[in-house]
Amino acid sequence: MSTSHYKHPDYYLIDELLTDEHKIIRDSVRDWVNREVKPIIEEANLKHEAPMHLIKKMGENGIFGPFIPEEYGGAGLDYISYGLIMQELERGDSAVRSTASVQTSLVMYPIFAFGADEQKKKYLPKLASAELIGCFGLTEPNHGSDPGSMITKIEDKGSHYLLNGAKMWITNSTIADIGIVWAKDEEGIVRGIIVEKGMEGLSAPETHGKWSLRASVTGELVFDDVKVPKENLLPKSKGLKSPLMCLNSARYGIAWGVIGAASECYDTALRYSLERKQFDRYIGSFQLQQKKLAEMVTEITKAQLLAWRLGVLKNDNKATAQMISMAKRNNVKIALDITREARQVLGAMGVTSDFPIMRHMMNLESVITYEGTHDIHLLITGHDITDIPAYK
Ligand SMILES: Cc1cc2nc3c(=O)[nH]c(=O)nc-3n(C[C@H](O)[C@H](O)[C@H](O)COP(=O)(O)OP(=O)(O)OC[C@H]3O[C@@H](n4cnc5c(N)ncnc54)[C@H](O)[C@@H]3O)c2cc1C
Repeated sequence: MSTSHYKHPDYYLIDELLTDEHKIIRDSVRDWVNREVKPIIEEANLKHEAPMHLIKKMGENGIFGPFIPEEYGGAGLDYISYGLIMQELERGDSAVRSTASVQTSLVMYPIFAFGADEQKKKYLPKLASAELIGCFGLTEPNHGSDPGSMITKIEDKGSHYLLNGAKMWITNSTIADIGIVWAKDEEGIVRGIIVEKGMEGLSAPETHGKWSLRASVTGELVFDDVKVPKENLLPKSKGLKSPLMCLNSARYGIAWGVIGAASECYDTALRYSLERKQFDRYIGSFQLQQKKLAEMVTEITKAQLLAWRLGVLKNDNKATAQMISMAKRNNVKIALDITREARQVLGAMGVTSDFPIMRHMMNLESVITYEGTHDIHLLITGHDITDIPAYK
């Protein structure tokens, strides 16, 4: 069964809520994913190799920084366009979407939001075109869900900053030209600073043995007395709020992105159920299989509406961090549940790389943990509605 006949579920005619421009952008990224990602992704996943040429092509195709203004190399698009791009990329693979999320929301966005004009001019156009690859270092070996307790620090040495500490689980750390690193200053205030490949004392060892996001690299960032020029500090970054604002942008993209992975698994299971016969009947004619498929399309439809409404709110600057948390949490969970149900519809075939389902399932095990775990997002909603933080 080929996946080239993919039909995107649109049970509630959500297309009618999109502008012509949205649809053109979505369709062009969908075509690009069909041409460039689908044919190579299973092998890249099996071999645990990041397809570097795709990063270059994403730069050439304007996929990085869609909401960054054109004067800095972005496309100046709205947030629904950004969401649709993420949806189509993640239908291809969560690792490909992760690279685009990191480059856009975790590297370009902080430079745009907290950087000096010279920093914006120096880095943003090159990040947009993929001449530079970026990474984002917040998580530490002993501080994941609680990044405010980080111990990585910068000290003002007059002519430069001295950076010491370590970051872990950093997407693209080994291939990055620059990294946005979050560290505490002498007053304990979290600041963002740009580190560049080749700086003395900076190393980025790869993390091996990942069973998830295998088509991207993950590694550490280790800082051993790294001298960082003063002009690399992001001047407007002050406090944990700054990296959290970046995460909000990335989480928004994830809420859309996972709809792509879920939709491809649903579509694959639906078509398989109408081709595979057991007991002389298509398996799609059995009530138990129809229940699975009907619940999948229901959850996808709800997730689409959540993402679309969040996009409208984000365009109007009304999307709160808590709203984004709810959408990230809900949509990743339903996507992961859908991969598990879809895999069962395919029986044994579902565990092979002939179909995309198991790859999406393994990928989503990371997506449900990174950018705030499933449980932490629940606590964010709990905090918001009760006004009582239950994290500690
Ligand atoms: C493939 C991959 C790529 C990543 N890329 C990046 C990256 O590019 N940059 C970056 O900075 N980070 C990245 N991360 C790190 C990711 O953001 C962290 O893994 C995540 O924040 C969780 O931290 P942790 O793994 O240390 O888990 P922990 O914080 O140790 O949590 C373990 C468990 O305890 C639960 N828990 C923790 N605190 C509480 C609490 N107060 N109440 C209830 N339960 C709690 C969590 O929900 C979780 O289930 C990546 C992770 C993965 C897997």
